Amino acid sequence: MKIARVLVVEDEPGIAELIGVNLRHHGMLAVLASDGEAAQKEIDEVLPDVILLDWMLPGQSGLVLARRWRNDPRTKTTPILMLTARGDEPDKVAGLDAGADDYITKPFSTQELLARIRAVLRRRAPEQASDLVQLGQLQLDGATHRVSFCDQPIKLGPTEFKLLNYLMHHAERVHSRSQLLDRVWGDHVFIEERTVDVHVKRLREALGEAGVMVETVRGVGYRLTAAALTNR
Ligand code: CA
Repeated sequence: MKIARVLVVEDEPGIAELIGVNLRHHGMLAVLASDGEAAQKEIDEVLPDVILLDWMLPGQSGLVLARRWRNDPRTKTTPILMLTARGDEPDKVAGLDAGADDYITKPFSTQELLARIRAVLRRRAPEQASDLVQLGQLQLDGATHRVSFCDQPIKLGPTEFKLLNYLMHHAERVHSRSQLLDRVWGDHVFIEERTVDVHVKRLREALGEAGVMVETVRGVGYRLTAAALTNR
């Protein structure tokens, strides 16, 4: 198995060093960067498998960096795990909205950090079908990562793409939040079910007119259906 390369963007040397030692001890390759500029240099040299990104950084904040890397073709699909000292819900949502795949609140245990890293790494693997799937006028190409509706291209973030990919392969069926976490995220142990709602909302917005195809089934979960459009 390939050794996971983890870029740790953290300005507090003590914490960065501790994370680095723990990751190396568990067979991962840890690269440390104390700010956005140093991190960008590392990314330009070798693309990491995961980015651990501290929220509070000198210069550009973790939030700004997450947004930038999410929009950069090179780092578009690289999982970003945000480290935050804040526990508030709005901040977590802001992190996810900026494109982070998950967040972990300080202080955290080594075991929790490792589990989360493994989870984001696993998440890249499931449901990455390489075939073309169509539902009504909505089309998704797993090979080229392209999505279109009525032949108009639709831009999706990596998590929304995985979510739509799963829903399209299992259309017209209702999926609970925990099922979606399991199948799309690959692990639901440390992720709140609310995360699913955030990404469903983003998916709907990105889909525009086709957003109504993602139905909320009250008290149960979500369903992707072609009927929503034809019934209007
Ligand atoms: Ca910091």
